[in-house]
Amino acid sequence: MTFTELLRVAPGSQPDLGAIDADSTPGFDGDKAAAQDRVHELADVLAEFQERLWAEGRQSLLIVLQALDAGGKDGLIRNVVTAFNPQGTRVTGFGVPSEEELRHDYLWRIHAATPGRGRIGVFNRSHYEDVLVVRVNELVPASVWKQRYEQINAFEAHLAANDTRILKFYLHISREEQRQRLQARIDDPAKHWKWSSGDLETRARWDDYRAAYTDALARCSTAAVPWFVIPADRKWYRDLAVAEILAEVAADINPAWPAPDEDVSGIVVPA
Ligand code: ADP
Repeated sequence: MTFTELLRVAPGSQPDLGAIDADSTPGFDGDKAAAQDRVHELADVLAEFQERLWAEGRQSLLIVLQALDAGGKDGLIRNVVTAFNPQGTRVTGFGVPSEEELRHDYLWRIHAATPGRGRIGVFNRSHYEDVLVVRVNELVPASVWKQRYEQINAFEAHLAANDTRILKFYLHISREEQRQRLQARIDDPAKHWKWSSGDLETRARWDDYRAAYTDALARCSTAAVPWFVIPADRKWYRDLAVAEILAEVAADINPAWPAPDEDVSGIVVPA
């Protein structure tokens, strides 16, 4: 089985996050060093893919990253997304909406950040916050967020039909792993800057977030725009699994080198 098949949330199914072992390594029985070697190899594949995507200039790729606090989005970006040439890649983080953003519908800022043709976009958090934090903290009435799953599916289907391939990764960590990572932010002065007391409030709502994530994954994983659940307690497996899926999808997108505008056969560049 491919990593795509192993880790995809099948459309119409409901993932049981409590039963998915965050410490597991589906599809890989090597160790950390072997995984890192493989990620290194895949980086070349991804770099070559991006160059063709850019040269072709017809399609785009959007990578959506969601996780609980300390879930590893930043590490994944550092270890895997850096395979792509920064010239054609943009990482966008979505925090608490600004006043101006709140004056628009919740997809306004999202649509504005989607990648243009030939580009790769990475969302560090996304429109899914509008059915996660917004739902858990009751920032809008239930009647409002409940409509959003269908709106999100329609929005993503629209992007997909207009040449944007979308891949959504939920980095799945265990409660104990999150405790250790948050504690490290307190104990290690080099990590103090990552600490926010809000993380404890979010952690206290663990079950509510789990329910909200389960609904988002179940209701918004479609054949064209799938969700993947990435066991992420082991950072090296998280990086490997996402890199493998990206490489599989890159082979499927398979952008074509464009033909030259003029006949170049026989041209010799003079000395
Ligand atoms: P991160 O925690 O991802 O490193 P930030 O420190 O900027 O990044 O935190 C982003 C915060 O913004 C998170 O607490 C997240 O829940 C919040 N946020 C993102 N989108 C929304 C939204 N649509 N409504 C309310 N809060 C949001």
